[in-house]
Amino acid sequence: MKNPPFEYHCPGSLNEAVTLLAELGDDAKILAGGQSLLPVMALRLGTPPHIIDIGGLTELADITVGSDGVTIGATVRHRAAETSDDIARHAPLVAAALPHVGHRAIRTRGTVLGSIAHADPAAEMPAVCLATGATMVARSVDGEREIAAADFFEGYLTTVLHDNEILTHVRFPAWPATAGAAVVEISRRHGDYALVGLACKVDVTEGEITSAALSFLGVSGTPVRVTKAEQSLVGKPPGDTVFATAADIVTATLKPGDDIHATANYRRHIAGVLTRRGLAEAAARIGVPA
Ligand SMILES: Cc1cc2nc3c(=O)[nH]c(=O)nc-3n(C[C@H](O)[C@H](O)[C@H](O)COP(=O)(O)OP(=O)(O)OC[C@H]3O[C@@H](n4cnc5c(N)ncnc54)[C@H](O)[C@@H]3O)c2cc1C
Repeated sequence: MKNPPFEYHCPGSLNEAVTLLAELGDDAKILAGGQSLLPVMALRLGTPPHIIDIGGLTELADITVGSDGVTIGATVRHRAAETSDDIARHAPLVAAALPHVGHRAIRTRGTVLGSIAHADPAAEMPAVCLATGATMVARSVDGEREIAAADFFEGYLTTVLHDNEILTHVRFPAWPATAGAAVVEISRRHGDYALVGLACKVDVTEGEITSAALSFLGVSGTPVRVTKAEQSLVGKPPGDTVFATAADIVTATLKPGDDIHATANYRRHIAGVLTRRGLAEAAARIGVPA
């Protein structure tokens, strides 16, 4: 289906983009890679009269590494992040998630921040933001504000971003050398959105788990962390038995819904299987056999 008519705006700077957004309000939508917005429009699920294309804003095209972690700008495409040595080295959970995002053609156009702003509950990047405790940076004509990932995702395709705000950066905190990362998921076909997925971090020091993050996608309207299962791991040596206990807690805690793709029971079961698999994979990445 063809897109409905709209007025196209191509600002030359972030300042120009936020000024335009302030003038047009909720009549305007930001276009980044278009991999979610354009299908939404083609299907008439949204028909914004104005599109503000930020794709050419080179001032937002950087991946930077600092003492506070790795910062990714709004026009960095999935594929640029996937092939970045800095992300591979300093943000391994982001690196582990990227190959799961659609197909390479989609990753070549789609942006990391577009994925976060779109907030699809089956998308990988929101779950990674939650697992790592990422910080979102938003800009409007009123200034800049930072939002913790735990406060950012409100519900299905909904975030706390205001109509006049552009997400300019996401900052992933510095990753400890003692932590392993894994993203595991089940989807019907390679490249499909996952039925259920897990972004998993496990930190092991002197043979004991010091912290863990289990952030699920595809089980609710937002990504979900199962803190009780995470806490069950802390202070224990990594291994099959403790991973199985965490998996049981996950299965008992999550309350996914039924839909045409999978039943709630199937999703719960898969979440447990992925917990064991994800933890073992993350532990193996730091040389800890499980
Ligand atoms: C066939 C197919 C399969 C896919 N499979 C997956 C998958 O398995 N996993 C996955 O995670 N994704 C998947 N996607 C989605 C893909 O990752 C998109 O690239 C991503 O969701 C949106 O990024 P984008 O840059 O294309 O954003 P756009 O489509 O340009 O924008 C998406 C939404 O976010 C808003 N937005 C974008 N950038 C900003 C910003 N900086 N500030 C404020 N608002 C902004 C837009 O206004 C729009 O509402 C798939 C897409 C397709 C077409």
